[in-house]
Amino acid sequence: MKISEILQTNKLTVSFEIFPPKQDSAYDAVIGCADELVRFDPDFMSVTYGAGGGTSANTVKIAAHIKDRGITSIAHLTCLSSTTSEVHRIIGELKDRNIENILALRGDRPKDPDFVPPGDYRYASDLIRDIREAGDFCVGGACYPEGHPESGHKDRDLDNLKLKVDAGCSFLTTQMFFDNNMLYSFLYRAQCKGINVPVLAGIMPITNGAQLKRTIELSNAYLPPKFLALVDRFGDSPEAMKQAGIAYATEQIIDLITNGVRGIHIYAMNKPDVVQKIVSNISDIIKAAK
Ligand code: FAD
Repeated sequence: MKISEILQTNKLTVSFEIFPPKQDSAYDAVIGCADELVRFDPDFMSVTYGAGGGTSANTVKIAAHIKDRGITSIAHLTCLSSTTSEVHRIIGELKDRNIENILALRGDRPKDPDFVPPGDYRYASDLIRDIREAGDFCVGGACYPEGHPESGHKDRDLDNLKLKVDAGCSFLTTQMFFDNNMLYSFLYRAQCKGINVPVLAGIMPITNGAQLKRTIELSNAYLPPKFLALVDRFGDSPEAMKQAGIAYATEQIIDLITNGVRGIHIYAMNKPDVVQKIVSNISDIIKAAK
């Protein structure tokens, strides 16, 4: 099923994201995580794509596995480091496996200063146009409530986002954020720019100190004092930090649903136990909002 059809119903959706293994030896473990997450009956599940190769080979396989378990899946695909023919090979594999949804991304610039991208794709919108021409896919894109780190200016970033949506994006998924006001302000500003596609709120439960460090490096997200106090107090106690992180994410989600946000996308980080706790914390809220 296409995610655009699921979103059309205008009911609350709860979706999960997992990532493929870094090494093939961990493939079965990731499939095990996917199977556990499927049990929580999400509206759909997404599988990320390793920008520099490595984990990318398994993205299609895992997305196909999820689909075979009866849950709509979406495969991420990046383009900056790839040639057109590499991208089209993946699109062909997705077609062969009847996967109808692609999250089209530019990908981060590789850290290696000597790496020169092939130059076939500059922005995600180039990829979106390509996918649209290649087949009947539902295409989603990424968005950044606090601005993409390279854009330098939130307003310019929104102008670029509008170009991306106009290229053929049916919905957007946000970068993680820890202050819901960042999302509410973004949604208002996006509407003012004429960006009217559904926006799924990306929620990252932070359950340990190392994850927090990596999250900050990746996202530049604003960390509210309440969140920092929690990390300060429980960061050195793994079990307490996990519980506090789950409670924080739960509270964020409840506030989002209360304020009318229709799409909650949980960055599951291949931790079904964390997702299970969040989902059970809000099971009646989900039922009431569906
Ligand atoms: P774009 O939309 O191309 O934007 C990149 C930058 O270019 C922005 O600063 C934008 O303002 C600017 N820009 C865009 N269009 C134009 C234009 N026409 N003219 C001038 N400037 C322009 N990375 C992975 O490697 N694998 C994944 O699976 C993955 N999944 C992700 C999922 C989500 C929900 C999010 C939020 C991010 C994900 N990423 C992933 C990270 C993403 O690849 C990086 O954030 C990357 O730096 C930007 O990708 P993008 O698709 O948003 O790029």
